[in-house]
Amino acid sequence: MALANENYLKTPEIYCFDEIEKRVNAFKILHPTAKIIRLGVGDVTRPLPHEVIQAMHKAIDEMGHAETFRGYSPPQGYDFLIEKIQKDYRTLGVVLDKETIFVNDGAKSDIGNIGHVLGRDNIIAIADPVYPVYENATIMSGRAGVINDDQKWSNVVYLRCTAETDFIPELPSEKVDVIYLCNPNNPTGTVLSKAELKRWVDYAIEHQSIIVYDGAYQAYVNEPDVPRSIYEIKGAKKVAVEIRTYSKTAGFTGLRCGYTIFPKELMVYTKMGEVSPLIKLWNRRITNYTNGVSYIVQRGAEAIYSRKGKAETQELVNYYLTNASLIRAELVSLGYEVYGGVNSPYVWFKTPDGQTSWKFFQQLLYDCQVISTPGIVFGNSGEGYMRLTGFSSREATLEALSRIRKGGF
Ligand code: PLP
Repeated sequence: MALANENYLKTPEIYCFDEIEKRVNAFKILHPTAKIIRLGVGDVTRPLPHEVIQAMHKAIDEMGHAETFRGYSPPQGYDFLIEKIQKDYRTLGVVLDKETIFVNDGAKSDIGNIGHVLGRDNIIAIADPVYPVYENATIMSGRAGVINDDQKWSNVVYLRCTAETDFIPELPSEKVDVIYLCNPNNPTGTVLSKAELKRWVDYAIEHQSIIVYDGAYQAYVNEPDVPRSIYEIKGAKKVAVEIRTYSKTAGFTGLRCGYTIFPKELMVYTKMGEVSPLIKLWNRRITNYTNGVSYIVQRGAEAIYSRKGKAETQELVNYYLTNASLIRAELVSLGYEVYGGVNSPYVWFKTPDGQTSWKFFQQLLYDCQVISTPGIVFGNSGEGYMRLTGFSSREATLEALSRIRKGGF
């Protein structure tokens, strides 16, 4: 008899965003001709940069000739891409060894996979509200404990992240071992400044903790006191793994490519107190569990670093950022309490009259045909808040805002 990994049964059967789709489908049945605008889900909509397309065409042609054909990628990624990533970090004043850069098939995989190389008994800290994958990965790996009446897991430390903290997560008051930090933050669009992030690095150094730093939206940072990488903070290489992705930077959500940094200075401990660099464990994981990312996709990613590629990706990011700032400005002018939308494609705002997130979601859907994301799907503290994204087209964004204004919201 094959036994199930029961930890998997503890996560919700449908992923939080699927509930939104269920409700949208119900609406479509009732209103089949309605012109729905999606400002809910965090997926990009603009086409890939021309440079990326060209590079991938060339790579496909190479695959069609015996002399240039490529089989398995090196598990860590091709040097041609790793060297570009390394050079890109230098522009931030961060020097990385090539061997510490691991190309992957997007951030989500490594957010889950990192649990493989960390001990089961670690106490995990996550913000509330938060990108749901951190909590689900903690549950599925058997680290969460039991669920309490308030829907919180007994072994997880939830970092307060509310209007009182300006939706910036608060440092834990107790000792935790692994901290997931997302900066700029999804869903709230808020950011930790360099000075604030330094407090997290100092905490981690003091407690021998690890920060899993999710920099999925680093390309959206445009204020000088906000870090693009945690390694801009002194001492961070001793405590932080940094995960990045081309998904929201260059439209790679469907192509799948990103990378994770495991600095050699970052140590973990056995129960007997022996010390090991985490990168050693990660190397064993990737050589056993992956055969790398497609050559064609890695060539596409490399093209982002050319002069033209950089300009095209910056244009993409600016496009989405402008949408976000339009959303932010409109909501502010309508009198909402608004966060984000400055260094982030996400805008987070409080529902009017204390309405629940799902109630306001339904109102926006039925009265304006606009899809939003209810804050509650990101955790208990998201209740009463909503997330809108700048990832739609300019026209659709403006149309949605006009409907919201006309709808008297
Ligand atoms: N991390 C955060 C905070 C995200 O919002 C997302 C996607 O929405 C991801 C990671 C996943 O990125 P990827 O497409 O690289 O898997």
